[in-house]
Amino acid sequence: MSISESIKINVSTTNGMIRPNSFRVIAGPCTVESYDQFVASARAVKEAGYEYVRGGAFKPRTSPYSFQGLGEEGLKILSEVSGELGLKAVTEVLDPGDIELVMEHAQILQIGARNMANFALLKSVGAAIAGTDHGVLLKRGFSATVEEWLLAAEYITSAGGDNVVLCERGIRTFETSTRFTLDLSAVIVAKRLTDLPVIVDPSHAAGRRDLVIPLSKASVAAEADGLIVESHHEPQEALCDAEQALPVEALLGLRQALQPFASAMGREVV
Ligand code: PEP
Ligand code: MN
Repeated sequence: MSISESIKINVSTTNGMIRPNSFRVIAGPCTVESYDQFVASARAVKEAGYEYVRGGAFKPRTSPYSFQGLGEEGLKILSEVSGELGLKAVTEVLDPGDIELVMEHAQILQIGARNMANFALLKSVGAAIAGTDHGVLLKRGFSATVEEWLLAAEYITSAGGDNVVLCERGIRTFETSTRFTLDLSAVIVAKRLTDLPVIVDPSHAAGRRDLVIPLSKASVAAEADGLIVESHHEPQEALCDAEQALPVEALLGLRQALQPFASAMGREVV
């Protein structure tokens, strides 16, 4: 069976997160570090005019000795602050046992690159969000083909969860000047093979903040439906992914930088 036959999904909206003719920007810190850190970073997201804030509570760190996130305490800060500011929250779930808890605190459940092929997690998340307003942001594994990525999405949809957004976040190549290599071809290919929205994470792809805005512009031109970017009120102090976080001024400038490209594509930055 070819991939285009196997992909049965026909969804064009995700609980309002991705709308036709709009370009959705999700921003916020890699990790919820404390109430003060998250509220300051989230206020900048609000001030920049975005509606979705990201912040990890359960962090999939490459090293077991790196900061693993605040867990449930981080989720509480995430929902309290996002609620106060009228923002919707995006956060990662690592363990099927945490799905219910994460759903109490966030609208969008992220499945990270390292878990794209964790089929038990995909099936559990699909079943848990079925019939709810929650959505899933499915990152592409950094060694996964587009076909494997789309089939991972089908694990979620075939379990009943139809609010799935795909996210290209860079793949591993021989190149060392960036953390990963942003594969914009995959965005276009995925959009031709499925009706699922596709967004781009230029922050984890580049691993360096100076490339985030140029790659964001390129993502608009590559027909992406949005972005998830890391931002922090004090990037140099971030406990996780400090080198790639946009400072507040850059986050405020991002909308302006993107709008001409979005207009050319018939979209509005939201
Ligand atoms: C993240 O978004 O914080 C993250 C860990 O991303 P990825 O799974 O793409 O590495
Ligand atoms: Mn990160």
